[in-house]
Amino acid sequence: MNSEINSFPQVLTIAGTDSGGGAGMMADLKTMQECHTFSTGVIIAVTAQNTLGVQQSFMLPKEIIDAQFASIAADFQIRACKTGMLGDVQHVQYVVNNLKKYDFGPLIVDPVMVAKGGAILLTDEAISLVKQQLFPLATVITPNIIEAQRLVDQEIKDANDIKLAAKKLQDLGAKNVIIKGGHAKGQQVSDYCLFLDHTDLWLNAPRIITPRTHGTGDTLSACICSQIARGIPLKTAVHIAKDFINLAIKKTIQVGHGHGPLNHWA
Ligand code: PLP
Repeated sequence: MNSEINSFPQVLTIAGTDSGGGAGMMADLKTMQECHTFSTGVIIAVTAQNTLGVQQSFMLPKEIIDAQFASIAADFQIRACKTGMLGDVQHVQYVVNNLKKYDFGPLIVDPVMVAKGGAILLTDEAISLVKQQLFPLATVITPNIIEAQRLVDQEIKDANDIKLAAKKLQDLGAKNVIIKGGHAKGQQVSDYCLFLDHTDLWLNAPRIITPRTHGTGDTLSACICSQIARGIPLKTAVHIAKDFINLAIKKTIQVGHGHGPLNHWA
């Protein structure tokens, strides 16, 4: 038996599924696998989805969510975990309760709110609870610019606004903040990272013009989660994740008829 395979760090994704395989938990699992970690998952929501959009979604009942957390806690040594689609205020509360009950290591919160096709993945009411109860548990949060605007309730127009928003988000209790610049304009995609020790950095990469960016946010946060589980310091992990996501966008695969998925093969 290969002892290296046996020593893969174990990680957890708490998210919604994407039947189309491109985003949500599916993107997380593929990324975590590619990043040499063993992934487990608590499914919060099931979406009927493809590259054309989200056709339906169903939030799982509390009992089966709690049972999934209990099963994982009873058998695995989770080194880091992440959240994705949490749906509504009740489900955010179920997740918060379970994260307080069990130790799953550092938490990465990707506060996904709206799918690129327009489907709502987090209600307005739930956004407040995410800020009040989930962010204080988080080691890293990874909003995009649009999510950051909603979270700080302020328009973000330039780099200075991004920095101010990150500081406000850190004041809510998130230790480290990454504001993703993919939704901004310009030839570069610049992500801003504000760390616990108050240092900061910009991750810059040339913008790749493509409709195939479905699941980029999930992939970035899943990659950071896996790197942390492997003991990689966060300041290195963010660079690895940025390179991973750029490569995954660049190496397009022709799947589906719409907003295509990434290529997760490293
Ligand atoms: N579907 C699910 C279940 C998700 O969790 C996410 C993002 O987290 C998406 C869809 C959105 O994917 P995108 O906005 O990249 O199309």
